[in-house]
Amino acid sequence: MIRFFNTLSGRVEDFRPLQPGRVGMYTCGPTVYDYAHIGNFRSYIFEDLLKRFLIMAGFRVRHVMNITDVDDKTIQGARDRAVSLEEFTRPYVDAFFQDIRKLNILPADVTPRATEHIPEMVRLVRVLLDKGFAYSKDGSIYFSIAKFPSYGRLSKIDPAGLQPGRRGDSDEYAKDSVRDFALWKKAKEGEPSWPTELGDGRPGWHIECSAMSTAYLGETFDIHCGGVDNIFPHHENEIAQSEAASGKPFVRTWLHCHHLIRDGEKMSKSKGNHLTLRDLFERGVDPLDLRFLLLGTHYRKTLNFTFAALEQAAASRKRLQDFVYELGHMSLSPGETPAAREAADEARLKFAEGLGDDLNISTALTSVFELVRKTNQLAADGALRAQDAEILRGVMKDLDGVLGVLDFRDEDSLPERLRFMIEERETARRAKDFRLADRLRDALLREGVHLEDTKDGVRWKYRKTAPRR
Ligand code: AMP
Ligand code: ZN
Repeated sequence: MIRFFNTLSGRVEDFRPLQPGRVGMYTCGPTVYDYAHIGNFRSYIFEDLLKRFLIMAGFRVRHVMNITDVDDKTIQGARDRAVSLEEFTRPYVDAFFQDIRKLNILPADVTPRATEHIPEMVRLVRVLLDKGFAYSKDGSIYFSIAKFPSYGRLSKIDPAGLQPGRRGDSDEYAKDSVRDFALWKKAKEGEPSWPTELGDGRPGWHIECSAMSTAYLGETFDIHCGGVDNIFPHHENEIAQSEAASGKPFVRTWLHCHHLIRDGEKMSKSKGNHLTLRDLFERGVDPLDLRFLLLGTHYRKTLNFTFAALEQAAASRKRLQDFVYELGHMSLSPGETPAAREAADEARLKFAEGLGDDLNISTALTSVFELVRKTNQLAADGALRAQDAEILRGVMKDLDGVLGVLDFRDEDSLPERLRFMIEERETARRAKDFRLADRLRDALLREGVHLEDTKDGVRWKYRKTAPRR
């Protein structure tokens, strides 16, 4: 059985999706007013791990991730630069998709943009007005938290601290100022707005996610994720809006990722302690090393970013990458050893059990490194056979389907040209043209291809590191 910690219940629970075999999952995507920082990517990588694990466990996952391209911050940014909202957000949207590719994050099935779903938001606000959960004031529309008695269930806010009737227009505010929040904000001079039946205006941030998640996943769906800073007010408000409108439970399981911190503080743009993927590129960091670092700490623990930790992650990942490479290039006698198959089965089982236990990544990674250790021992004892290596490589490939940190393309990615040079050298050797053979050998070496002549023929190792995505 798979178990996850549900922020809503505050407990680890058995995971049972609404429809057997299928999972509907919504993750809050980027607000495209700047480049995403690696703190944001900790959350996206955690969500990617969760999704890949569910896929490995046999579920068909429908993943929706929104793009917030209209809110207080994007509007402010466009104003500061005196450009349209679209012009301002476009480069950040493009950069986001490039970044997730480099980090080997599977793209969502749908990535709806807020600006393209205004009618859905208007409809939802209309329902809230008709049902008496919302009211108009000076051309804007607010959600009345007094009308929704279970307000605060997700963030565990003390209802005594609520101040119904107090209103605020900003999208973000702290727990100590719980209040009626804006669903629809009246048009202001110099701000983008949409002419709608609610009047000229634009949506509040929270209604965007309620409208877009329902549009693609229905009124009730299985999983909703984000970073812990999303719990209040964003997710609390999403629940209030959606459940007030539909009269049904909104989300069954809420999972939240804890923060990436730096020098003891949450990594964020406002604190100025953030790093983007571009910053790390400039220092020569491989994005897959960053991915390995960010997914290596359990999602419900704070993770402190340091360059030393990043180097350590890179070294561990290299061990796994070298292992996979060796498995594909060892010269072994045919046959198989039961011990190798046992080790492989055990690794698969422990890996899945670990992740099924609220994504216990330490257990999962331990099972992988255990497999490396046992295999190396078998090889040292001369017990490893050709079929074992094939099976083990297959297991590593499957487990990496979840981790997403390794490259299995080394053999295929040996360029045609280099393959041809290896063959040419063989021909030269057979013709006893050793000068040509040596020249070809040196040329191949300069390209990262190491040749080794064995009694079974020539073997090669391609030491070019994983191609950049
Ligand atoms: P934003 O673009 O600010 O809406 O944030 C996008 C996602 O990143 C949200 O799920 C946030 O909760 C998450 N996030 C922001 N800062 C951090 C951080 N330092 N560590 C982990 N997740 C974060
Ligand atoms: Zn959201």
